Amino acid sequence: MGIRSRTVEVLSTSPLRAPLRWVHDRLRDPLLILAYHRVMPIPDSDSYPFDLELISASPEQFEVQMAYLREHFNPISLSEVVRHVVDGITLPPRPVVVTFDDGYDDNLHFAGPILKKQGIVPTIFLSTDYVGANQPYWFEMVVYLMMRVPPQSILLPGTQTLLPAGASPAERRASAGALQEALKRLPQKAMMELLSGWREEFAAYIEPSEFRLSRVLDWDQVRAMDADGFEFGSHSKSHAVLANLDEATLREELHDSRMCLEKELGHPVKTLAYPVGKSFAFSDTVQRVARDCGYVIGTAYISGVNWLGQLRTFDMRRHNVERYHPTRRFYAMTAVPNWVL
Ligand SMILES: [Zn+2]
Repeated sequence: MGIRSRTVEVLSTSPLRAPLRWVHDRLRDPLLILAYHRVMPIPDSDSYPFDLELISASPEQFEVQMAYLREHFNPISLSEVVRHVVDGITLPPRPVVVTFDDGYDDNLHFAGPILKKQGIVPTIFLSTDYVGANQPYWFEMVVYLMMRVPPQSILLPGTQTLLPAGASPAERRASAGALQEALKRLPQKAMMELLSGWREEFAAYIEPSEFRLSRVLDWDQVRAMDADGFEFGSHSKSHAVLANLDEATLREELHDSRMCLEKELGHPVKTLAYPVGKSFAFSDTVQRVARDCGYVIGTAYISGVNWLGQLRTFDMRRHNVERYHPTRRFYAMTAVPNWVL
């Protein structure tokens, strides 16, 4: 017996096997997925009435980031990952996927040309009820109300606290964050009822022409982008926190949004991003029902790397990009696999 096969035999039967497999698995290629929301010029924080936290990058930042990905990685589409999972196609080394949640129209106007220039195919996750509805997402409406209504007008659910806490933009933004977090933990129906009650009560403070600042793509734009090579996935129907829903409603959110996208686009849709996407937002039940409803991939909004060969296809991790991260942090974030290797 040669020394090499003898070594293999010893290693494969010894207590070293488990740690060796661990090392081996870690040496496999990492699949990096980046999560963006909006790409747009950074507005004045005192007067802008929507959520600044959703602005992932300015166009200038995004341009630098996409050029960096093109130079140092192999940008692939999420449908290639689907084909890797379903058909076993081989992905290139150092694969990276760019994704957007919610489908704001800046994805077309600002991010679109930069992505085209670099030949990067993004996946945009849409909550189908909002596409072309000319209505801000519920979490955007929460910020809008907090920025516009008089101080101490709205009761923070489950407390005696009245919001916004004060009249300054900083106090209003802090109150908006607190109200968003509280609402994410309420049943969807109760949350939407509270919100529509406030919209009625404070109608005098609402100027619908400002909704253009938080506009979601419409179906004509989505179809044109799809024809132009962009990809789309489901982000549910109503952007509900899926883990808070009963199973029938959960099925409706996942099934109907996929059917709606397939009908509008005329081809299969296999990818899903869980709204909110933190661990409390997608339970085991959510993952099981997503699989049942015909999805192949479910992405979270939790930072991390996915390891090819042991993909957790319904718990895919994504690095979130934030406008206030310095460029060197973006570089470091995408280099984490190298440090591990
Ligand atoms: Zn979202």
